Formats: sequence, structure tokens, C-alpha cells
Amino acid sequence: MDKKKIVVAEGDGIGPEIMGSTLDILRAAEAPLDYDFITIGQAAYEKGITSGFPSDGWDVLRQSGVLLKAPVTTPQGKGFKSVNVTIRKSLNLFANVRPCKAYTPFVASMHPGMNLVIIRENEEDLYAGIEHRQTPEVTQVLKLITRPGCENIIRYAFAYARAYGRKKVTCMTKDNIMKLTDGLFHQVFDEIRAEYPEIETDHQIIDIGSARLATSPEWFDVIVTLNLYGDILSDITAQIAGSVGLAASANVGHNAAMFEAIHGSAPDIAGKDVANPSGLLIAATQMLVHLGMGELGEKIKNAWLCTIEDGIHTPDIYREGLSKQEVGTKQFTDAVIERLGRTPARLEAVRYANKQISVPPVSKIETKKDLVGIDVFICWDESDRDPDVIGEGLLDASTDKLKLKLITNRGVLVYPGGIPETFKTDHWRCRFRMTGESVTYEDVVELLSSINSAGFEVIKTENLYNFDGSAGYSMAQGE
Ligand code: NAD
Repeated sequence: MDKKKIVVAEGDGIGPEIMGSTLDILRAAEAPLDYDFITIGQAAYEKGITSGFPSDGWDVLRQSGVLLKAPVTTPQGKGFKSVNVTIRKSLNLFANVRPCKAYTPFVASMHPGMNLVIIRENEEDLYAGIEHRQTPEVTQVLKLITRPGCENIIRYAFAYARAYGRKKVTCMTKDNIMKLTDGLFHQVFDEIRAEYPEIETDHQIIDIGSARLATSPEWFDVIVTLNLYGDILSDITAQIAGSVGLAASANVGHNAAMFEAIHGSAPDIAGKDVANPSGLLIAATQMLVHLGMGELGEKIKNAWLCTIEDGIHTPDIYREGLSKQEVGTKQFTDAVIERLGRTPARLEAVRYANKQISVPPVSKIETKKDLVGIDVFICWDESDRDPDVIGEGLLDASTDKLKLKLITNRGVLVYPGGIPETFKTDHWRCRFRMTGESVTYEDVVELLSSINSAGFEVIKTENLYNFDGSAGYSMAQGE
């Protein structure tokens, strides 16, 4: 087999130790890999690179397309960006794949039967980092959900389930509240699941779904969800599986992928030869599968499973009665190497041949888009925040083409109608609807000018569009 070049980042804290262990095992297993090392994280931050990722690293990564990354230390304080988020977003690594399995009876777990995979959208949602303080009292963040983003991740989840013989895919959203954003994710899930009739599917609202996951994780198989929910869920599941030190994640895109342990750089135990290298080692087996070297990944993972069931454990998972020998990083590494070629007797052996997953690039959709009105956001803190005062002022400022329909405050209808008990902040969403059959952006500009002349401070606008005749905006309560 031709050698494949991969990029290696040794990271900070325990990073170099656990990477050393992982590379020793890869070499002992005769993985046909060449390694290109890059320095990211602390050393890059100290050189003033705020992203933690040096610019010449991109070329190296582009050529290889695969990064095996140890954890890095993110400096506290403003101005520094997370290397992980930078890499994920720059390389379009849309899928975060995190298997969570209990290794009972050898590693203590509250949920012995759990064996699930969380497939989390990795780039979108609230992580775009587009935040504004709009008024003295109000801040906002933009939650961006795209159709291509949903299609990529949901196709990936189904392709993964099919490749790994998983029986069920559960989609988790909060589309009872966020009907357009989470609703799009759920809608795309319903569209794509039809292509996988052999896979059972269900949808759960994220709150009750998380509660079920925390109490009965054995009910779940593959979970596909949006970025923030997945971020939280995957840490909870790794924790209840037994040890965060055992969990790995793959960050996969169409052209590149990054593999890492889920834990951080553990500076408290760095340099002490006690770190558990398992998370990064399991990430390396995910990498081998991705590279089409599934049988090699299988060999390493099975040797690791043998080590775990032989009770040879690092201090983080060592328990009297369950474990047999407490070892450091180096001894654990040697124990895995000794077991290469063996399959576990009690834990289930893995089979990784032909499990490479690819999803086709997303096609562009055609829609007819018509402007039908505008939401004008106004900062206003006068007249005891009486909605009738701002309402009447804006009715007067309406134009022939665009007329005030309603005002909400924090999403609650306050004009016309509303009740006095509703709390009102200094941030008013004022919805103007077209009066005729059509409206143009020039008409919007005329309206904004009129509102400004009437003495109201416009802080933001959102155009209201219909797409193929359907409203592309949420209805206000009471509308
Ligand atoms: P952490 O995961 O580094 O450590 C939490 C606890 O778990 C510590 O007690 C640590 O000793 C232990 N631990 C973690 N990994 C272990 C292992 N492999 N073996 C044995 N014990 C292990 O989390 P933290 O302390 O919150 O973060 C430390 C640094 O890591 C921070 O700078 C943080 O920003 C960074 N971090 C990086 C990544 C990443 O690069 N992917 C992820 C999370 C945190």
C-alpha cells in the first residue's frame, strides 16, 4: 500500500505525551503513513497568531487533507480564537462524529448498555459568532442554519448508519419553538430519511430527548443534531459512558478531516506519564478508517480493547476490583503494542473494513423570492415604554406602500393590543406589511427615511420575503 501523508499537531499539556504514544502504536502496527508535523496552539498564540494556527499550516493541511491533532491550550482572555473552531470552519469540516460506548465491566459506567454515536453539525448554528449589542439592554446572536449545511450533516448521519450497520437515526431539534431554523433541519431529515428505508428513524424535541439520553442512553443508536445541542449532548454522553479520557471525535468535510480526543490539554497532569492516550488513539483509528485503512484501524482498536479487558488501566479509569494493573502512559502504550493482532474475548471486537463514508456535494435550489414587508427594529426608551405611543408614532410614519401591522417586544405582541403585565425592554420589533400587490427595496428605504424623520432610532431591519409563496419569517404571537 502506498504511504499516505498525514499532518500531526502534538498540541500542548499532555498533547506531546499522548501523541507520542499514538504514533508509537501506529508505527508498531506498520501503518503506511508519513507524518508532517505542524505547531499549533500555545506556541502559535505566543507568537501573536490569534487564531492559534500558523498561516503556512494551511498549505500543508491542504495537500494532505488529514490532521491528527492533540489537544491544545486556549489562552484565557479576549482576542484569542479557538484553534478547533478555526480549523473546522476554514476547512468546511461539517460533521463531528463522536462515538460513545461503555466498556463495562472493565471501565465503570452508569449505563453499561450504551453504544451510540452523536453526529453533530459542526459549523453553523450559533457558532457563526455574529453577535451585537443593539440597545443599552439588549444583545443578540445570529443563529444561521443553511439547507446545504443540513443536507450535508443529515446525509452523513444516514450514510454512517448504513456503513456501520446501525439500526436507528434519531434527529433532535427544538422546532416546536424555532420553526424556521430547527424546522429546516427537521424537514431535511424527513426528506433524506426516505432514501434509507431500512433505517428506523425518529425525531425528538431536544429537551426531552436529552433527558432520555441522560437516563436511558441505551435507547439511542445514531443521533443527528445541530451544533449547539450536539456540543452539549456529546460531552454529557462521553461523561456518562465512563470516562471523557476514552472519547474521540472525527471532524469530517468533503475534502479534509481532523481527528482528535475530546478532552483538553490537561495541564495539571502534563509531563507526569499518567495521561490516558486512549481518546487520541481511538481518534487515530477513526482516521485510518477514513483513509481506507479500516483493517488496520480494526487491528489497533481490538488491541486496545484487549488491553482494557486485561485490566491494564491508566489512573483516570483505574478502579479497585475492576482493574488489574495501574500503569502510566508509556506502559499502557507498550501493553497495546503487545496485543496487536489479538481480538478481545469479552468486549465486542470491532470490524472496520469498507466503512469509508462520503456524501455528495449539495445541489443548489431554485426558489422564487418576493419582498412582502419589513421588520424594523427600534431602540426606544420613552413615555414609560408605552407601546401605544411608539405604535401611534410609527403608524404616522408608515408610507403608502408599507404600513405598520404590529409591534412585539422580546417576541410578545404589545401593539395593537397586548396586556400591561408584559415586561418591555428598550428593543421593539415593528412589522410593516406591504399595502398592495408588491413592494420594492426603494419603498423600504422611503419608509426607513420616514421613520428616521419621525425621530425613531432604527437599529436593524429584516426584510420579509415569501419563498415560492410561503412566508420566510416567523409569525408574531397574535398575528
Ligand atoms: P481537560 O480535559 O484538559 O481536563 C479536565 C480534567 O480531566 C483534568 O483533571 C485532567 O487531568 C483530566 N484529563 C483530561 N484528559 C485526560 C487524559 N487523557 N488522561 C487523564 N486525565 C485526563 O479540560 P480543562 O482543564 O477544562 O482544559 C484544559 C485546557 O485544554 C484549556 O486550555 C482548554 O481550553 C483546552 N481544551 C482543548 C481542547 C481541544 O484542543 N480539543 C478541548 C477541551 C479543552
